[in-house]
Amino acid sequence: MRDGVNAQRATDALLRWYDRAARVLPWRVGPAERAQGVRPDPYRVWLSEVMLQQTTVAAVKAYFHRFTTRWPDVQALATAPDAEVMAEWAGLGYYARARNLLACARVVAGNGGFPTDRAGLRALPGIGAYTSAAIAAIVWDRPETVVDGNVERVVARLFAVTAPLPGAKRHLAALAETLTPQHRPGDFAQAMMDLGATVCTPRNPRCAECPLAGFCRAHDAGIAASLPAKTPKAPKPTRRGYAYVALRADGAPLLETRPPRGLLGGMRGWPGSDWTEEPAPAPPLAADWRHLPGVVRHTFTHFHLELTVAVAQVGHGTAPHSGAFDPDFDPDALPTVMRKVWDHVATRDLFAGPKGG
Ligand code: SF4
Repeated sequence: MRDGVNAQRATDALLRWYDRAARVLPWRVGPAERAQGVRPDPYRVWLSEVMLQQTTVAAVKAYFHRFTTRWPDVQALATAPDAEVMAEWAGLGYYARARNLLACARVVAGNGGFPTDRAGLRALPGIGAYTSAAIAAIVWDRPETVVDGNVERVVARLFAVTAPLPGAKRHLAALAETLTPQHRPGDFAQAMMDLGATVCTPRNPRCAECPLAGFCRAHDAGIAASLPAKTPKAPKPTRRGYAYVALRADGAPLLETRPPRGLLGGMRGWPGSDWTEEPAPAPPLAADWRHLPGVVRHTFTHFHLELTVAVAQVGHGTAPHSGAFDPDFDPDALPTVMRKVWDHVATRDLFAGPKGG
């Protein structure tokens, strides 16, 4: 790592390891096929990279399978109704990604395909520095430097960078760039990701199995597991709110679609109050509301949420201020926090009994 010659040797060692140990992933063209000229499908790589933002491979696989079965190419996704895509995304979190996914699919379908360079990719909705580099490298074999959390960890250890994240981000990206090869840059990017995910893991790096052990300064110094250093995060605040579950006599619950912008934008959910330190009750209609004991807890990126849940049964002719009763209600189409509210209600069996009438 200390000079270009070692960087070249380290890159070669990593690629040889990747040739025998690459993870088999549904969106990936493995190194043997790649060597025969098979190019990954940009639609599948793009979809996987968007899904993988903030989400694990294990969690993404089932969603990826459902999406590609239902919408096998970007043209199919571009013509899908918004509500169906949002419902299929439910549970994956970070819902702005799903809205951007649709916007991006429509631009790409309109242009007749994905751009083949990083700058063109970066101009698309929802595609930032990381994703544009990843697609350009993986699909088009461009020598772009792809830096996610896994790669930051590997680079911090290889170069024994003790300065803490997030302040060290730029330095780590610059060091990563010194490694990016001209030859097989797409496989190299995926090899770094795989190494970070399977060998150079956060708590217990498996240095004995690592193809880079002979080049790694943190391993030499015996400090691998302590890197990357991180600046302690400020504790998350707690916000509170009310969620209202109204059930009509035929079993249809009252749901609303959240505004397109903001948290859970475009997703379906229960009517409710604002989420603040001291929320005011905001029932969506006049009814005999009963507040359930306990709260529903959920943690978002920047805050914890505690929801008090109120329930009511209402008559057939009831007209809500907003939202609509949904006779085809599917709990699986709810984002996770809204699903927790439904489960909170359902576990109390408040609306048990046959539907109908
Ligand atoms: Fe990570 Fe250990 Fe490999 Fe260094 S030798 S890159 S710390 S797994």
